[in-house]
Amino acid sequence: MPSSSPLAPSASFPPVIPRRVAVIGAGAGGLAAARELRREGHRVVVFERGGSVGGTWVYTSAVESDPLGLDPARKVVHSSLYDSLRTNLPRESMGFLDYPFVSRHRRGDGGGGGGEGDPRRFPGRREVLRYLEDFARDFDLYRLVRFWTEVGQVEREDDGRWAVRSRRVSGGDGGEESEVYDAVVICNGHFTEPRVAEIPGVDAWPGKQMHSHNYRVPEPFIDQVVVIIGSSASAHDISRDISSFAKEVHIASRSASDGTPTKLPGYGNVWLHSMVESAHEDGHVVFQDGSSVHVDVIMHCTGYRYHFPFLETNGIVNVDDNRVGPLYKHIFPPELAPCLSFIGIPWKVIPFPMFELQSKWVAGVLSGRIALPTQEEMMEDVKAFYLQMEVAGWPKRYTHNFSGLQFEYNDWLAHECGYPPMEGWRKQMYAATTANKIALPESYRDEWNDDHLVAEADRDFQKFL
Ligand code: FAD
Repeated sequence: MPSSSPLAPSASFPPVIPRRVAVIGAGAGGLAAARELRREGHRVVVFERGGSVGGTWVYTSAVESDPLGLDPARKVVHSSLYDSLRTNLPRESMGFLDYPFVSRHRRGDGGGGGGEGDPRRFPGRREVLRYLEDFARDFDLYRLVRFWTEVGQVEREDDGRWAVRSRRVSGGDGGEESEVYDAVVICNGHFTEPRVAEIPGVDAWPGKQMHSHNYRVPEPFIDQVVVIIGSSASAHDISRDISSFAKEVHIASRSASDGTPTKLPGYGNVWLHSMVESAHEDGHVVFQDGSSVHVDVIMHCTGYRYHFPFLETNGIVNVDDNRVGPLYKHIFPPELAPCLSFIGIPWKVIPFPMFELQSKWVAGVLSGRIALPTQEEMMEDVKAFYLQMEVAGWPKRYTHNFSGLQFEYNDWLAHECGYPPMEGWRKQMYAATTANKIALPESYRDEWNDDHLVAEADRDFQKFL
């Protein structure tokens, strides 16, 4: 089946109402937003508290003073990447729709350095950062970004515009600046504020607790007994990473059966358990499967919380049990639309292409080219969605979990923006990778059987290269 091209390489539209727009964050979401807003004719300023583009993909060996990442007074480290990280999506499907994530060589790198890079299909973290840097360079986005500038407050003025208060966090006098924008697009990411598991007795337990947010390299775990809580991609990767240094690794997850612990095939020192039941003063951790181990470190790989410390909406937008709401289509708060929007809220998605479609929609709505329903209609839509979740027995914290929903959502966005649905090969590749991860959890990044989809993607990419 031939796949359709969702976008012309340099789609641009005549602006209807150009707005002055503040984008918060220069990660993949902020870069996508900046590009689409500018394509639509808006005037864009991107605020970035770090010194480079790429957000999460800017690896640092630095960790926070509180290894659990809970102390509100700690100096926040943004990125949660570990040194050995390779993508968990194949590069063909992961990239933006009109800017294929192929090797730099194939993209016709203009000489930005970096040699051949990492040609693997599931490349390491550096390759992703290089891709985002190239994206920013090729679409001339750097000059839109104010680096080392943290947004401290975003508040609506009486006239409906938005006051953005920011301060230089490096290289300046640290002074604050306040400016007024027609609209604000929030792209601050949601993998920085840890969520941790509640463990009865843990306060008296003498070992060390940390969150995967502060995990970088396995060497410090030499000869340690480590419990990893969670079943996310990070829990999977970190347990394998650590196993070559640690004495023992015990993975505790809700999805494991309640029977006796089993050894992970292929590993001499990794066990799979059901959840942790309690921790004790003598150093032992007890699992629901009845087993008990003397443990040095508990690592929470238990995900993150949405956090918008700068946003002041007088209670209109709230985060409740990890539900950011109310948000129409996970983007616009009905009462504040279209001048406040969020890019990148859904999870269990292919992030970059979704950011791109969300950004196109926001840009088109802001210029008046695309119409939104009325405030009441948007609110009804949100309520209907919440009700649907409740009936299906989904917990509130899964409001933005898009497992099984992402392509319908992306196609809806594309349709609103006047684009064809997302390519068939990308959808099939996501399904194939998901199945392959289950079949080959240890080697899915190096063995696969969807080469026909890679070939189809490659044919599609020709028009953008
Ligand atoms: P971020 O990348 O987090 O960017 C947010 C930016 O906002 C940051 O630069 C931050 O400095 C800035 N910022 C925050 N607050 C402020 C403020 N107040 N003022 C100014 N600037 C601010 N995705 C994939 O596609 N493939 C993968 O394989 C993959 N693996 C992942 C592995 C891990 C461990 C993690 C944590 C995530 C992974 N992701 C992966 C998801 C990844 O988060 C997204 O790909 C994407 O990078 C998120 O982009 P973002 O712009 O939403 O947020």
